[in-house]
Amino acid sequence: MNELNPSGWRPSTGEIGTVDVPPTFTGNRALQLEEPLIFEIGSVDQCGVDLPDADDEVLPGLPLRAAPVDLPGLSEPEAVRHYTRLSRQNYAIDLGLFPLGSCTMKHNPRLNEKVARLPGFADVHPLQPQQTVQGALKAMNELAHWLITLTGMHGVAMTPKAGAHGELCGLLCIRAALEARGDLREVILVPESAHGTNPATAAFAGFRVENIPATAEGRVDLAALTARLGPDVAGVMITNPNTCGLFECDMKAISDAVHVAGGYVYCDGANFNAIVGRVRPGDLGVDAMHINLHKTFSTPHGGGGPGSGPVVLSEALAPFGPLPFSARQADGSVRLVEEENAAEEGHSQAFGRMCAFHGQMGMYTRALAYILSHGADGLRQVSGDAVLNANYVLRSLDDVLDAPFGAAGPCMHEALFSDDGFAEGFSTLDLAKGLIDEGFHPMTVYFPLVVHGAMLVEPTETESKAALDQFIGAMRSLAQRAKAGDPALKSAPHMAPRRRLDETLAARKPKLVWREA
Ligand SMILES: *Cc1c(COP(=O)(O)O)cnc(C)c1O
Repeated sequence: MNELNPSGWRPSTGEIGTVDVPPTFTGNRALQLEEPLIFEIGSVDQCGVDLPDADDEVLPGLPLRAAPVDLPGLSEPEAVRHYTRLSRQNYAIDLGLFPLGSCTMKHNPRLNEKVARLPGFADVHPLQPQQTVQGALKAMNELAHWLITLTGMHGVAMTPKAGAHGELCGLLCIRAALEARGDLREVILVPESAHGTNPATAAFAGFRVENIPATAEGRVDLAALTARLGPDVAGVMITNPNTCGLFECDMKAISDAVHVAGGYVYCDGANFNAIVGRVRPGDLGVDAMHINLHKTFSTPHGGGGPGSGPVVLSEALAPFGPLPFSARQADGSVRLVEEENAAEEGHSQAFGRMCAFHGQMGMYTRALAYILSHGADGLRQVSGDAVLNANYVLRSLDDVLDAPFGAAGPCMHEALFSDDGFAEGFSTLDLAKGLIDEGFHPMTVYFPLVVHGAMLVEPTETESKAALDQFIGAMRSLAQRAKAGDPALKSAPHMAPRRRLDETLAARKPKLVWREA
């Protein structure tokens, strides 16, 4: 890929980086600005706004602070610059392709943001009387309806606040269903390729986790799974499409076998983007599945924004779903079903609740705007284009990178590669760091664990062919450097404001509190 390609992307001629760059006086690198902590630049006697003098009146019962808080202050323009500079140190989906596998980093349409900011959604309070927030409750109820329709399930618990929280909700439903029939099974089977949250959730919910092996093609080993089923198995947690980027073709057979053995089927639905509008998990015998609204239905993700992980439930598990949930009334109004009216609504078996209020309103409105603006045909095209893009990446790289399941046929939404064939001493980490110099956030690395030096690339449907070609060009160049053992790759990134950080130290001994030196 070293000539001009049909999409018009031109590879760099290589002038950049050929001269030694002396350190700058400021520490800045061209327009990439260094920025100290606000505690280092602010001072306690500065303030960006004119505040009225405090009078001595103190509300009765409020404790008085004995010493000043010592918050750092900046002038208004300094404060604006501080936070703008910090924001520019982030990589974002609005800047470039974000190939993180398993995360579905897609464009968030601006329409979502416009809808989420409507005062009737953004400015309401969870303790407001319900008749004053009927529009918001109806939007929640409508989203619930679409999630049930798209998945072919019976009910939905809207309150969980992320995928992992949804997993916990699903497993608590399974536990409640087992308790209701006096059957205290304690084992949850989880495939080797599962996201780390699956076994963590099962353990947290009080189950014992057992692994089930994968076949050489990267799918759940049906024979091994059925052999392990028995009266102690509460259920399975299966990701479909799985984290190797493959559809679990045996899903229906897995569900049937688990049901015959008296267990329940939890499906990790984080990868729903690859099948939305085409496959209904309810038809595959799934009993509970979380949907990451912040993946499949756009909405900010990975940038610290809130998540939302509604859990769709089968007829068998729906009666145990948590409170509160929205229910349409005979007069057309919508009410939140809480402890005091659960029996009236025929929902007295709820296992409890996942959070204080009704869940993430802002994510509901974004997801509903996304679903309604795409429509049924648009959502079908989303999954089709996402899968097409991933296969384009897979087939454009499988001659320079090892694709462990490449022979198994087309992938789903993500392409998986390994470090097989890299020069001695070169690893996936080196390639990922090189990608930073090329101007990309690295792909997901070392996950799934079943592949040595895994590199998981999920381009999503929102990338153009030109953007994919540029990424593929960078990946081809880096793969060749890793195979040739280019020493410069070993110390990449060279052009980022920071080089390689001690990530273990940062994780083990994080500095969470600033102290004056
Ligand atoms: C993202 C993801 C999760 C967890 O979802 P969060 O919203 O991050 O808690 C679980 N499983 C898979 C496969 C995922 O990709």
